Amino acid sequence: MSTTEEHLSPALRTEALEQLLTERGLVDPAVMDKFIATYETAVGPMNGAKVVARAWVDPEYQQRLLGDGTAAIKELGFGGPQGEHIVVVRNTPQEHNVVVCTLCSCYPWPVLGLPPSWYKDPAYRARVVREPRTVLAEMGLDLPDDVPITVRDSSTEVRWFVLPERPAGTEDLGEEELAALVTRDAMVGVAKVAAP
Ligand code: FE
Repeated sequence: MSTTEEHLSPALRTEALEQLLTERGLVDPAVMDKFIATYETAVGPMNGAKVVARAWVDPEYQQRLLGDGTAAIKELGFGGPQGEHIVVVRNTPQEHNVVVCTLCSCYPWPVLGLPPSWYKDPAYRARVVREPRTVLAEMGLDLPDDVPITVRDSSTEVRWFVLPERPAGTEDLGEEELAALVTRDAMVGVAKVAAP
C-alpha cells in the first residue's frame, strides 16, 4: 500500500515545499523565479555547443579546454553554480567517454543547463557503470568492441564534460554552424555529433 504523499506529483510537492520555505523566510520567491527562468532560457546546452565549436576550430583553445576546463569555459563567459570545477575529456574514434553521476545528478550547469530526466534515473546511473556498451547501444550509440569506454562519475568535486568528435564533412563550416550541430547528448557522451 502506498501512502498519500506518493500520489502527489513532483510539481505539487515542489510547490508545497516552496511555500513552506517562503513562509519561514528561507527563500525569496522572486529569486527562485529568476533562477528557474535563467536555467529555462539563458543557460543550456547551447552554451556547451559554443565551447565545443570553438575547440574544433581553434587548436590552442582546445588545449586550454582540456588542460583547465573551468578557466577555458569562463573565457567564453560561462560559469556559475555547479560549474566551479569542470573537467573536459575528448571523445575520439579510438576512445569514448560517457558521463554519469552515480550518487545523484551532478551535472555542469553553466554549459549544459539542468540535467535531463534519464540522467537522474537510477537505472541509467547504476547500469552505465556496469555495462556501458549495452546502455549506449540501447540509447542508439553502437560503438565498436575495440573502442574502450571510460565512465566518468561526476560529483560535487568534479563535473565532467565531453568534447565530442568533430564529424567528417564539416571542414567548410564556420563556428556558428558547427555549434548548431552539437547536441546535449554528445556532450554527455551518450551520442555522437552527426554530420549535417
Ligand atoms: Fe550528483
